[in-house]
Amino acid sequence: MDMKAKEFWFVVGSQFLYGPEVLDTVAARASEMADWWNQSGALPCTVVYKATVKTDGEITAIMREANYADNCLGVITWCHTFSPSKMWIHGFDLLQKPYCHLATQYNRKIPNEEIDMDFMNLNQAAHGDREHGFIGARMRLPRKIVVGYWQDKPVLEDLGAWMRSAVGFDFSRKLKVIRFGDNMRDVAVTEGDKVEAQIRLGWQVDYWPVGHLVETMEALTEAEVDAQMAQYRERYDMDTDNEEAVRYQAREEAAMRKILAREGARAFSNNFQDLYGMDQLPGIASQNMMADGYGYGGEGDWKVAAMTALMKEMAKGLEGGTLFMEDYTYDLEPDDEVSLGAHMLEVCPSIAAQRPKIQVHPLGIGDRQPPARLVFEGKAGAGIVVSLVDMGGRLRLIVQDVQVIKPILDMPNLPVARVMWKPAPDLRTGLQCWILAGGAHHTVLSTAVTAQMMKDWAVMMDIECVHIGKDTTVESFEKELFYNDVAWKLKNL
Ligand code: MN
Repeated sequence: MDMKAKEFWFVVGSQFLYGPEVLDTVAARASEMADWWNQSGALPCTVVYKATVKTDGEITAIMREANYADNCLGVITWCHTFSPSKMWIHGFDLLQKPYCHLATQYNRKIPNEEIDMDFMNLNQAAHGDREHGFIGARMRLPRKIVVGYWQDKPVLEDLGAWMRSAVGFDFSRKLKVIRFGDNMRDVAVTEGDKVEAQIRLGWQVDYWPVGHLVETMEALTEAEVDAQMAQYRERYDMDTDNEEAVRYQAREEAAMRKILAREGARAFSNNFQDLYGMDQLPGIASQNMMADGYGYGGEGDWKVAAMTALMKEMAKGLEGGTLFMEDYTYDLEPDDEVSLGAHMLEVCPSIAAQRPKIQVHPLGIGDRQPPARLVFEGKAGAGIVVSLVDMGGRLRLIVQDVQVIKPILDMPNLPVARVMWKPAPDLRTGLQCWILAGGAHHTVLSTAVTAQMMKDWAVMMDIECVHIGKDTTVESFEKELFYNDVAWKLKNL
C-alpha cells in the first residue's frame, strides 16, 4: 500500500447541548479541514473526516470499525466544542490503533466585534481539549498530543511525523523476518526473545536453512540471473574484471528475493559462519535488496534487520538514507572525535554520496571466495542511530542523534562502504551513555527518520525508549535508566 492510500480517521467530539445548527457547522468545518490537509500535500497520508460524535454508542462503533479497517492506521480526535469524556471511555478502551489528540481550533484569531456567547459555545476548543485530555491521562492511553493552528507548519510537521510512526506501527504488526542460518556463535547483543518480540511488536521471525537458499539458487534460470545483473549495471559502476564473482551475487540475490516474496517477508539475516554450500557471503546482493526497502542484519541479527525494514517504511518519500550500520573504530582527535561505521560488506547505498562502484576483494573471515560488494562514501547530514536490545523480559529502544560528516580520510585500503559521524552530545559523553544503555554495535542509521518519530513509535508499541541528544548528561541518563528499569518491571508485572 502506498503512503497516500493509508488513512487516518478524523473524529470530532461534541454533544447535543448546542443544537443541530452548531453540530452542522462543526461537521462542515471538520470536513473542510480534512480536504485542506489532503490538498496541501503537507501530510504523507490521507485524512478522512469520519464523524462528529455525540454519544458513547457512536464513539464505540467508530473505534471498533477503526480496529478492523486495514487501511485505517490511526485515529485523530479534535474537540471543536465540549465533548463530555465519560462517553469516550468505552471507545478508547477498545481502540487498538495509534491515537492522536489534535488540540487546534478552526479560527486562528479571536474576533473582537463578533465574539459573543454563541461564538464561545461554537468555538471552545480550549475548554473541550482539557476534558478530552483528562480522560487520556486518566486511562493512561498511549497518545500523541499535537497543539497549534491546523494550517501551521509545526502542526503539519508534528502530525506528518506521527503518521510515519503509525506507519511503523502498522508495518511492525505485519512484519515477517527470515533468518538464513542462526545467530553468530557466542554473541550476546544480537540475540533476543523472538516470542516476546512477536507479542510486543508483531514480528514473525522464522528460520530457513541455508540449504534451502542454495537449492533455490541452483534452480534459477540463467535469464533470472541475467535480469539481476542488468539491474546492477543500470544502478552501479562495474569496477572489476571478475564479473563471474558479481554474477554469483546476482544468483544469491535472485534466490533470496524469491524466498522472501514467497513468504511475504520484508527483512532477512544471515551469518558468515553458516554459508554451507555457498561460494560467497552475500555482499552486493544484500546491499541492493536494502536499496529496495528490505531490512538486513548481519551475523544473524534479526532485530536490526526488522528495525531497518521498519524504518525504511517510515521514511518512504523523505530525503536521506536509512540503513543497517555498524560502529567500527574511532578517530580520537580531542574535541573533534568521530566514529567510523561500515560493515564487512553490507551497507545500503541509500546513503551513498556518489554512484557506488562494484568491486571484488577478499574477505578475511567466513572462509569463502572474495565477495563482490558496493563501495562508496556516506553523504553528510543530520541523523540518528537506533538500537533495539533485549533486556530480559522486555525490549529497550536506544536512539542517538548523530551528525554524519564527509569522511576525513580517503582510506584507499578499506574497500567497503563507509560512513563517518559525530554522536551527540559529543563522542565521549554520547558513547558513555550508549554503553550504559547497552546499545549494540549494529544499528539502523537514518538521515530521514527523526528521534521524535522513533519515540512516538515506541509509545505505540509500549516499549522503553531512551534518547541521547544534545542536552543529555551522563548523570541524568544514568538516573533515567535506573528509574526506567524499575518502572518497566512494575509495568510488566
Ligand atoms: Mn556485524
